[in-house]
Amino acid sequence: MSLLHTPPLRTPHPNLIDKIFQTKYLHSNSAVASNSAVCVRTNSKVDFSSRPFRVFTDSRTVEADSVIVATGAVAKRLPFTGSGDGPDGFWNRGISACAVCDGAAPIFRNKPLAVIGGGDSAMEEATFLTEYGSEVYIIHRRDTFRASKIMQSKVLSNSKIMVIWNSAVVEAYGDGENKKLGGLKVKNVVTEEVSDLKVSGLFFAIGHEPATKFLDGQLELDSDGYVVTKPGTTKTSVEGVFAAGDVQDKKYRQAITAAGTGLMLLASLGSECEETMLKQLMLLEFGKRTMLLKLKRPLKLLKELHSKFRKVLRIDVILVV
Ligand code: NDP
Repeated sequence: MSLLHTPPLRTPHPNLIDKIFQTKYLHSNSAVASNSAVCVRTNSKVDFSSRPFRVFTDSRTVEADSVIVATGAVAKRLPFTGSGDGPDGFWNRGISACAVCDGAAPIFRNKPLAVIGGGDSAMEEATFLTEYGSEVYIIHRRDTFRASKIMQSKVLSNSKIMVIWNSAVVEAYGDGENKKLGGLKVKNVVTEEVSDLKVSGLFFAIGHEPATKFLDGQLELDSDGYVVTKPGTTKTSVEGVFAAGDVQDKKYRQAITAAGTGLMLLASLGSECEETMLKQLMLLEFGKRTMLLKLKRPLKLLKELHSKFRKVLRIDVILVV
């Protein structure tokens, strides 16, 4: 019984999400009724206590013998005035949480830029931004970095990077013309003095939050809330539940490593699961911001699963949007 249908995805497309959402697979309940592969549901909780595992969505409960958790991690942001994505905010109009993704955009070229944070990400992002900006400020709330010594020394010896210690951004304001970021009000947390910093770009590098709350303690997590996988595998603490991508990787967080763990997953499913166990396989996806990248992977994964396990009766993809 061939029950896996996915929309044609020959070439990556910037409007991939729109294209997918325009398909019947994501729009109609008939897709579910006719055993199609993809349905959109909001995942609220899971029960991994025994097989079949259960995933509770806003409208139904789905049972599965194997579950892949690929729910990602969301970059943390700060809620000061002007940081939001509403009409008065500069999110995506100068403010971002990913220098590697956005830093090369024309609005940042040869302009002063700022990074908030004092960890390895802040060091890495600031160093990366020196390729594009005229100068880069690191704004950090304390007077020491928590980043590794080697990353710190790279930053501190870079003449294009200036550190603003003991400071917090309290406001972002516009450039007055194009409704893009024009600068920041920065408060020294020791003296309480507020100063003005003209920048065209601001990048949050204050950590990520893995989307694991819905697991409610049913999988082993590390101290930062990431799913713990057995070294060199995608196996979690519960047999039959696998994790791939950023939800189990707090260090690299790159598309290529996430795709790599997806492939590991596929290989381990092939060698370690009985085909009959794959009667249903559920794939959880999370995070609007990362959906574009990640949707490509699950769909590819599903296609490969389908060709590999001809006897799979049904595959559900649950997207948490
Ligand atoms: P971290 O949690 O290590 O650092 C977060 C930084 O943001 C800290 O300096 C913290 O300040 C600051 N911060 C947190 N919340 C706020 C807030 N509300 N306001 C202002 N500042 C805030 O996160 P990273 O993303 O840097 O790193 C995560 C993990 O990934 C680490 O283990 C790191 O080593 C690893 N990593 C490794 C890389 C590499 O080896 N190439 C590259 C990137 C990350 P404070 O210090 O005061 O708590």
